[in-house]
Amino acid sequence: MSRATKIVATLGPASSSAEVLERLILAGVDVVRMNFSHGTPQDHIDRANLVRSIAAKHNRPVGILADLQGPKIRVGKFADGKITLKLGDHFILDAQCELGNQERVGIDYKELPRDVKAGDLLLLNDGLIVFEVKSVRGNEINCVVTQGGVLSNNKGINRKGGGLTAPPLTSKDMDDIKTATALNADFLAVSFPKSGADMYMARELMRAAGGKALLIAKIERSEAVTNAALEDIMKACDGIMVARGDLAVEVGDAAVPALQKRMIRMAREMNKLTITATQMMESMVSSPIPTRAEVSDVANAVLDGTDAVMLSAESASGQYPVETVEAMVRICTEAEKSAEVKLDREFLDRVFTRVDQSIAMAALFTAHHLKVKCIASLTQSGSTALWMSRLNSGVPIYALTPEPATHTKCALMRDVRPFALAYEGHDREKLLFEAEQALLENKVVELGDIVVITMGEPIGQSGGTNTMKIVRIGEHRPA
Ligand code: PGA
Ligand code: MN
Repeated sequence: MSRATKIVATLGPASSSAEVLERLILAGVDVVRMNFSHGTPQDHIDRANLVRSIAAKHNRPVGILADLQGPKIRVGKFADGKITLKLGDHFILDAQCELGNQERVGIDYKELPRDVKAGDLLLLNDGLIVFEVKSVRGNEINCVVTQGGVLSNNKGINRKGGGLTAPPLTSKDMDDIKTATALNADFLAVSFPKSGADMYMARELMRAAGGKALLIAKIERSEAVTNAALEDIMKACDGIMVARGDLAVEVGDAAVPALQKRMIRMAREMNKLTITATQMMESMVSSPIPTRAEVSDVANAVLDGTDAVMLSAESASGQYPVETVEAMVRICTEAEKSAEVKLDREFLDRVFTRVDQSIAMAALFTAHHLKVKCIASLTQSGSTALWMSRLNSGVPIYALTPEPATHTKCALMRDVRPFALAYEGHDREKLLFEAEQALLENKVVELGDIVVITMGEPIGQSGGTNTMKIVRIGEHRPA
């Protein structure tokens, strides 16, 4: 397999035409992100249909991630669209204000004056502008500008250190969960969760709407990064996004790199997926090549063990969406060559309690030591492939499954590629023959190669993986 790390690309005006989308998918995009902070439900549904038709045309599994806006707190609108604030200016955030001016502006979260107190630092527009709260009177938060700049309509507000009490899912999010379900999203990302309870709530709403998406928790609040909160959130989700944009504002930018490493390590230990996001290739919004620092950032995320690296503005509104994906492919592929394999050490203190998980680990261990060509996992849900992909073995994993929904979910898993396997009978030899054929047709093995296969027996009965088999390709011929 040429590349193990997956690429998530946010869609937007720069990437909505069929032509650009097709080039993005051919360049290597594995999952597209629909950002529900922008666009109408119909925009997202139309884009999803287009992505699916292009993916089908090229026989490529492309997952769809629906990203909810969440309770991002924003300033209201200004009479002139924007104002310029200077160091030392006095400014009022006013829950009652309709239209802003040089002196005050409205806020969409009316409870904000109750959540802040004198001395707090408020960061606007991702930290470009900073206010120090001087006093709170009724609906008015009186501030002094400690870092000036241009403030325009609807820019976000964060409090340094976190602690804002906006509810986890807004009424817009609840409507958007229905849209995400209608377009059959593979992944649903929840913004600003503070606890596992927030994720359970999202899961309940999604289930009520009939959705089956994997749930991604965006870690972007300072409350979410204590060990206890992070563990609680991890247990309640299927994966996390290291959402460095808001996270950096809340915890301070310098704390983010170490947090990224800790989060990815913990997620992998807990069998969860990880997406590393925000500003990975930011300069490519307007430049055809990345900076050296961006190249290192993407490579380091790969070495941290992330499942996927993500593009935001670069692919949604940038000038070079396709070139950005091509650069990411190049960086990931090269970085993977130097990723450390320390499987034996990672096995030392593992305890397996489930049969299917034990088989997954046995297959990984064997594949690594026998130096086989690949692992083929015959799976319905993809969970065997997920478990194996949580440890870096350097061996590619192919998920052979008849389930189209499993194909697109595997699109986010590092090291895992899904292939279709249509067999529905009960004959073991025939099933193994079909599996070998799928690997041969997809040109990932040759006759004589040794591969490790995991499967569940008896054949044809849905249920857990309980068998590992070492196979030489060409061994199985149907009677
Ligand atoms: P956003 O999330 O782009 O929805 O804000 C990512 C981040 O905060 O980094
Ligand atoms: Mn965010």
